[in-house]
Amino acid sequence: MNKSLKFKCPKCGHDRIEEIMINVIVSTPVCRINVSDGNYEPEYDHLKAENYDAQVDRYQCAECGFIVPVRSLEALATTEYMQEVKD
Ligand SMILES: [Zn+2]
Repeated sequence: MNKSLKFKCPKCGHDRIEEIMINVIVSTPVCRINVSDGNYEPEYDHLKAENYDAQVDRYQCAECGFIVPVRSLEALATTEYMQEVKD
């Protein structure tokens, strides 16, 4: 069975949740470096970013920081904060 779940924050109603990772090494390709007035701005290819040894610490509301203390998507999906959506 296919379904989609969406976060709804019990504190602020926001619908974005952040996955907070710890002990992670991230590798991101740099396409170019733009220099202006002595500032160096990398242009990253975020779609090709990879992370290694990542460990999920928690999930939290992207707006107010409300913490859902679970460490996997499976556990998150079973909480009352995730609701099925039809698209
Ligand atoms: Zn919130």
